[in-house]
Amino acid sequence: MIDYTILKKSRKSYARLGIVKTPHGEVETPAFVPVATLGAIKTLTSRDITDTKSQIIIANTYHLHVTSGEEVVARAGGLHTFMNWNGPIMTDSGGFQVFSLGFGRDFNVGKLMKFFPGKDTEYVHAHSIPQNLKITDEGVYFRSPIDGSALFIGPKESMKIQEKLGADIIFAFDECTPPLSNKAYVRKALNRTHTWALTCIQAKRSTQAIFGIVQGSRFKNLRIESAHYIDTLGFDGYGIGGDLGESKETMGKILQWVIPNLTERKPRHLLGIGHIEDMEPIIKNGIDLFDCTAPTHYARRGTVFTSRGKLNIRKKSFLKENEPLDPKCSCLVCQTYSRSYLSHLIGSREISGMSLLSYHNVHYFNSYVGLLRQKIKEGKL
Ligand SMILES: [Zn+2]
Repeated sequence: MIDYTILKKSRKSYARLGIVKTPHGEVETPAFVPVATLGAIKTLTSRDITDTKSQIIIANTYHLHVTSGEEVVARAGGLHTFMNWNGPIMTDSGGFQVFSLGFGRDFNVGKLMKFFPGKDTEYVHAHSIPQNLKITDEGVYFRSPIDGSALFIGPKESMKIQEKLGADIIFAFDECTPPLSNKAYVRKALNRTHTWALTCIQAKRSTQAIFGIVQGSRFKNLRIESAHYIDTLGFDGYGIGGDLGESKETMGKILQWVIPNLTERKPRHLLGIGHIEDMEPIIKNGIDLFDCTAPTHYARRGTVFTSRGKLNIRKKSFLKENEPLDPKCSCLVCQTYSRSYLSHLIGSREISGMSLLSYHNVHYFNSYVGLLRQKIKEGKL
């Protein structure tokens, strides 16, 4: 189980400072949650999780299930011992990947509609039911991306897998609709998500904390209805999931529809969002936890986040610069290595370069949220 305490509420916004106590330690919120898809933050060691000031990580139920499987993790004693990280861990429900990989194959879409490649909305409306998945009221039939075998995950299966993985916080199984799905389809999917939320609560046997997920896409009445319904089920906290509209402005509106309708004394997690520029607005809207693959995803492609903005360290001009990535950064990489060396490594496709940049970026994201927590404390946010 977890315990959440609100330490301070902002007078300027919905931002709040809090502490989430888990069986594996405390998390100061608002907090960034680095993504450890397969039980590792890509290219980092478990020790780096602590050294980059990460407080909690989120591993991926779907990816762990389709690769080595939850039995392997369970035999090792659960994720904490398996990956040798004794801090707080979350697992997502697997729902987002099951659907997004299916939809992604159909439409090549991301989480925010602005990443949608084509503008042919009629096409999407006409084809807004995925072709690579079979969704029933019991769950989802899909094919393993590893070996093509037929797989099925529903709410009960998600609970069983997540119990074996043994994270401190788990999520209810939900249906994620793709951007631009029409309202009739989102309505149908939302009914399923709500039924599954109840099934998850009833099926869970462990003492793990469980967060319910609010869906409803970009539709105000559906988001509000979902917040109300999920709130009645007695979850330990909330996830806000799914497609978050066509722009970051729509995302703000969605949070303003949802958050006032959730029980205040429980933590709220925004799923899959958390670029540097997103952090202040989502925290101001009352988000306590959020996960995003950006720091490691960008690092592997040579982009670092610094107090002076983003730098693409692959540019040849950095080969001549002996200063650190960010002179204001206290991370081990900035204390130890030059832009020149890091530019050389990443430009030469050396794996160590990807690892060092990932380390800096994760540290930078965690430090940035730390500054925002400080701002709340000082009454500035
Ligand atoms: Zn650094």
